[in-house]
Amino acid sequence: MTKVITRFAPSPTGVLHIGSVRTALYSWLYARQNNGKFILRIEDTDKERSKKEFEDNIIDGLNWLGLTHDEFFRQSDRSVFYKEKIIELIAKGAVYVSKEEPKEPGGRAEVIRFKNPNRVVTFEDVVRGDISFDTTELGDFVIAKDFDTPLYHFAVVVDDFEMGVTHVIRGDDAISNTPRQILIQEALGAPRPIYTHLPMILAPDKSKLSKRHGALAVTEYHEEGYLPEAILNFVALMGWNPGNDQEIISLEEMVKLFTLPKVQKSAAVFNIDKLKWLNKHYMKLLSADRAGEEILTRFPPMLQTKAHSDVKVFEKVVPVILDHISVFGEVRALAEAGEYGYFFEDPAYAPEKLLWKDEPEPMLAAEKLQKILALIVDIDNAFFTPETIKTAIWDYATEAGRGSVLWPMRYALSGREKSPDPFMLANILGKEATLRRITHAIELLRA
Ligand code: GLU
Repeated sequence: MTKVITRFAPSPTGVLHIGSVRTALYSWLYARQNNGKFILRIEDTDKERSKKEFEDNIIDGLNWLGLTHDEFFRQSDRSVFYKEKIIELIAKGAVYVSKEEPKEPGGRAEVIRFKNPNRVVTFEDVVRGDISFDTTELGDFVIAKDFDTPLYHFAVVVDDFEMGVTHVIRGDDAISNTPRQILIQEALGAPRPIYTHLPMILAPDKSKLSKRHGALAVTEYHEEGYLPEAILNFVALMGWNPGNDQEIISLEEMVKLFTLPKVQKSAAVFNIDKLKWLNKHYMKLLSADRAGEEILTRFPPMLQTKAHSDVKVFEKVVPVILDHISVFGEVRALAEAGEYGYFFEDPAYAPEKLLWKDEPEPMLAAEKLQKILALIVDIDNAFFTPETIKTAIWDYATEAGRGSVLWPMRYALSGREKSPDPFMLANILGKEATLRRITHAIELLRA
């Protein structure tokens, strides 16, 4: 049994996109589950379009996701190997230096071409089965601009050969490249790897996937506060499933369950709502400390200071916030819209806001709040929980009209149209702040 060796071979001509993550993940999974080797190979033969910043972005993205590689290569570091192979193939008569008409004055007058045997190449693809391609139409294709400048197809084949790659897993946009790569392989005497071409990923409306469907670079998801576990789980299920409808799959489980033949033939569909749903799931599995940190870093500085000085309140606010978001990045906008300020600072509001729609009389509202004070003032601090507060008030609220009791209470505590229920709020704020805010509301109503 030869050792399984897979590779992820991105060209650093753009950032690491969620679609490419799937190629990386499947290659990584296959290597891991076979105790094989996963290679990261930066394919920067296109000197004009390749950028170091994209290479860094790709590496950062993979590291963040935990798709660690066992070996790293960069094609621009490997020109000597390609040159050696060109010379070898020239000696064998499989490639030749071709005199060309320069396209522009002073342009290149020579390229290196592959002597096409003009035959049908058939290869087996794990997803699609047998694929045949008549290579005649490719002509004597160019494999290098000169001895030091190989083109993509040639470098890929030399590298896969020298690195011992056994399984090529890549996007199906590379299917049409495969026959010419196989011709080069055969000329080099290289073994043929097992090919798996992954189906495209489309938008839910089957159009081309783009940013407006929520498909972003991995680093952008990171900035938006998505979790790597969610991204990997999501990506894994775009075009593969474990044979049942299990939706939550950890990386560890994937290593056990993943199988190449289960990769689906039809295009996969990108659904941002599913990613958000998964992210919410994984967010809730985080420790309270970690979730708290993620939230806190997204608070504006003022709010951060307040949260720091009122840790007890902040700890109780964390689960409330988590309940209302799918991605940590949402915290920033909500905080800026003032959604969290009242947890840490007594709210300011117009007194008429305290009035329930069916009871517009301030004195009556004040009376209700007065009664609430009386009902909760004796609850021991240690037992000031949502349940005890509710128990203390519920019968009275039911009898006097829930809206007319609970609305002013909730508004007095939050100063907002929308907030958690008043029992939960009172618990979060603590007894002292609760009494103070309700007392203040009574004063406003009576003023
Ligand atoms: N550098 C190629 C790309 O980014 C890799 C294709 C392959 O995996 O062979 O499309």
